[in-house]
Amino acid sequence: MTELPEAVEAAPDLIDPIIGYRQWRLVGDTLTSLFNDTRWDRVSLSALCPGGDHHPEVVPDHACSCGIYAYYDPCPRTASAVTRELVAGAVVMWGRVELHGTGLRAEHAEIVALELPLSLGSKRRSVLEVADHLGVTAVPHRHLRSVAREHGAPVDSSLRPPRVRQPVVSSWRWSLVS
Ligand SMILES: [Zn+2]
Repeated sequence: MTELPEAVEAAPDLIDPIIGYRQWRLVGDTLTSLFNDTRWDRVSLSALCPGGDHHPEVVPDHACSCGIYAYYDPCPRTASAVTRELVAGAVVMWGRVELHGTGLRAEHAEIVALELPLSLGSKRRSVLEVADHLGVTAVPHRHLRSVAREHGAPVDSSLRPPRVRQPVVSSWRWSLVS
């Protein structure tokens, strides 16, 4: 009994909060979720699911689309440059977590850094003001990962589900049969 069973060694170490990356829309002086009206007027947020087919506090539910979303990797440097409203940043997430191919859904999230825009104009001032209001740092894109690492741990790539699962298996089987 000197070695742990393999399954235990491979179990995710989710003691640390998980790092995620996402974008928001800057509406007035408040960050808002891109695909719904959730306002991030505080640094941390907990998800509820009042409309789901499950207990509203058990979020995210496997069969539902609820929870707070983030990507495993930072959004491309230019992804937030297309409009004045888009702001990128890093969060840490904890509680119930669902891992997907390119990102995750979680029960709780806290903003740890916002990304400074490429432009030097009023958008940059707005991002700095929001960061100041939330009490988080605003850093250039190239520093986002290192700042996030001070607050949590990335999901190891071995734990991430494959981006495409079923079609690959199906075509492989099909080619064996034919
Ligand atoms: Zn739900």
